[in-house]
Amino acid sequence: MLKGIPASPGIAIGKAFLFDTRQLVATERDIKQDAVPSEIIRFEEALIKTRSEILAIQKKISREMSAQHGEIFNAHLLVLEDRMLIEEVIEGLKKERKCVEYIFSKVIGKYINVFSKMNDEYLKERTSDIEDVGKRILKNLIGVQEKTLSDLKEQVIVVAYDISPSDTADMHKKNVMGFVTDIGGRTSHTAIMAKSLEIPAVVGLEKATTKIRPGDILIVDGTDGIVIVGPDKVILKKYEAKQQKLVKFEKTLLDFKDTPAVTIDGHKVEVSANIELPDDVGSVISHGAEGIGLYRTEFLYMNRNNSPDEEEQFEAYKKVAVKLAGSPVIIRTLDIGGDKFLSQLKVPHEMNPFMGWRAIRFCLARPEVFKVQLRAILRASVFGNIKIMFPMISGLGELKQAIKVLEEAKEDMRNKSINFNQDIEVGAMIEIPSAALTCDLLAKEVDFFSIGTNDLIQYSLAVDRANEKIAYLYKPTHPAVLRLIKNIIDSGHKENIWVGMCGEMAAEPGFVLILLGLGLDEFSMSPVVIPEVKYVISNVRFEDARKAAEKALSLPTGEEVEAFTNKRLNELIPWLKKTKKSA
Ligand code: PEP
Ligand code: MG
Repeated sequence: MLKGIPASPGIAIGKAFLFDTRQLVATERDIKQDAVPSEIIRFEEALIKTRSEILAIQKKISREMSAQHGEIFNAHLLVLEDRMLIEEVIEGLKKERKCVEYIFSKVIGKYINVFSKMNDEYLKERTSDIEDVGKRILKNLIGVQEKTLSDLKEQVIVVAYDISPSDTADMHKKNVMGFVTDIGGRTSHTAIMAKSLEIPAVVGLEKATTKIRPGDILIVDGTDGIVIVGPDKVILKKYEAKQQKLVKFEKTLLDFKDTPAVTIDGHKVEVSANIELPDDVGSVISHGAEGIGLYRTEFLYMNRNNSPDEEEQFEAYKKVAVKLAGSPVIIRTLDIGGDKFLSQLKVPHEMNPFMGWRAIRFCLARPEVFKVQLRAILRASVFGNIKIMFPMISGLGELKQAIKVLEEAKEDMRNKSINFNQDIEVGAMIEIPSAALTCDLLAKEVDFFSIGTNDLIQYSLAVDRANEKIAYLYKPTHPAVLRLIKNIIDSGHKENIWVGMCGEMAAEPGFVLILLGLGLDEFSMSPVVIPEVKYVISNVRFEDARKAAEKALSLPTGEEVEAFTNKRLNELIPWLKKTKKSA
C-alpha cells in the first residue's frame, strides 16, 4: 500500500500503464534467490525487444535516407550481442541478488566509463552507441512505454513521475481510469484537471514508478490518497464495495444540486463552477452550478503548435456563454507560467516559474497576444453574461495597466463598429499577498474580486503548491491566510463590490462554513463538488457560520482551526459525515 496526497476523489481499479518522459533511473531493489531465473528471463526479453526495435529503426532509416545511414545501427546491434556484457549482468544478478535493471545499469555505466576514456578515437566514439542501446534496454526493463495519453488502446491507470497539466488535458476519460504520480500537490493544475475530468488520482506518492510494474493491478483511492498494488481478492472486494458506496453518496448529493444556495435563516450566496475547457459545460449544468466563476482559458492554448486565433477563441467563449443562458461566465485572461507551459509562446525556462513571468505579467509584456484574447472575449460578451477577470494582479499599478489595455481594445472595436457589452464587468483575482493587503485600493477599480487561494496560500506561506515534500505546510486554515481572506472580503464590501473565491479552499465543506461566516458572496469550484457545497450552505444558519468564523479567527494555529471547523460542521450537519463515513 502506498500513501500519497488525494488529488481527485473516487476509486479506480485497473491495470498499470507506466508513462514517463524523464531520465530513466533504475532503483536498487533486493530479490530472493529463487527470483534470479525470472530476472534473467526479463533481461533476455528486454534484449529481444530492444533488438527488434533497433531493426525496425534501421529499416526505416535505410528506406528514408540511405542504406549507409542504416548501417550505423549495426554498431548498436553489436552492443546488444556482446557476450561479456550479458554474462557480467547474469553474474552480477547471481552474486548481488538485486533487480536486473539495477545490475544492468551498473554494468553499462562501467562500460560507458571505460570507453569514454579510451585513447583510440574510433573506440571512444562507440561510447554514444553504448549509451543509446543501454538507455533503450533500461527502458524496456523498467517497462516504460513512450506513448501519448491520447491514443491509449485500452483502459488503464497511468503511473508517472509527474504528469503535466497539458498531458492531463490530453487524457481521454474513456481510457484513463485513474492516475498516480511520484510528485505533485493537492492544488497543482494536474490535480485540478483530474477533478474536472472526474478521474480519481493520487499524487506525491514519491516511489510509485519504482514500486509499480506495467500491468500490475492497482486500486487508486483518490478520496483517501491511497494506492494498493496487486490487491488480493478480499481487498478487491472491499474496494469494489467502497466504489459503489461512493457512487451512491454522490448520487444522493445530486438531489441537492438545484437547492438554492441560501442558509436556513435566509442569507443568499452564489455557487459557481470552475472550468478548463468549453466541453466542461455539460458537467457544470448537470451539477447545478449557478454560473461559471472561473474559466481557465489557458487550456485552450495547450497541446498544439500555435495559439488559437481571435475567431477560434470567440467561438469557444460564445459557446460557453450561450450554454449558460444568461448566467454569469467569468472568463479569466491567459494565466500561463507556474506549472502551465505553452511551447508555442516560447516562454523561457525559469528557475522559479511560480514567481516568474506568469499570467498578467506575460500578457502585459505581450499585448499582441493579450489583445487577441480581449477582443475575442468582448465580441462574445453580447451572447451572454460574460465578465472579464485578470489573474495574478500584484498591485494597483498593474491592475490599471491591464484595464488600460482592455480600454484600448474596446476603443479599437468601437472605431470598427464591432458590437460588445459596453458595461462588461471587470474583476481581479486576489492571489498575491501584496494584492490582498492593498485590496482597499484595488476595490475602487473593479466590479468584483475572486480570491485565488491556490496561489494565495503558496505565496503567503512560502509553500510550493505542487511540492509533495512540503504539502503538510500547505494550510488553508493558517491564521495568516484567514486574516488575509477577511481583509479581502471586508475591503471589497466597503467599496460595495462582491467577493468570490475560485481556489480549491471554496470546495471543502468545513472551510465553506468559515468562508460563509466571513461574508464570502460567491463560491466557485469543480462541478462535482457543487451539490455537497450547496447542501452545506442550505443546512446551516448564517448566524452559526458567522460565530464559527469569529471563533476560527481567534485560534492560534491552522491545526486548531481545522479541528474546530470539522467538529463544528459535524455538530451542525451530522448527516454529511455520517453518510460519507458509511461510504
Ligand atoms: C488560484 O490560484 O486559486 C486559482 C483559482 O487559479 P489557478 O489555480 O489556476 O492558479
Ligand atoms: Mg492562481
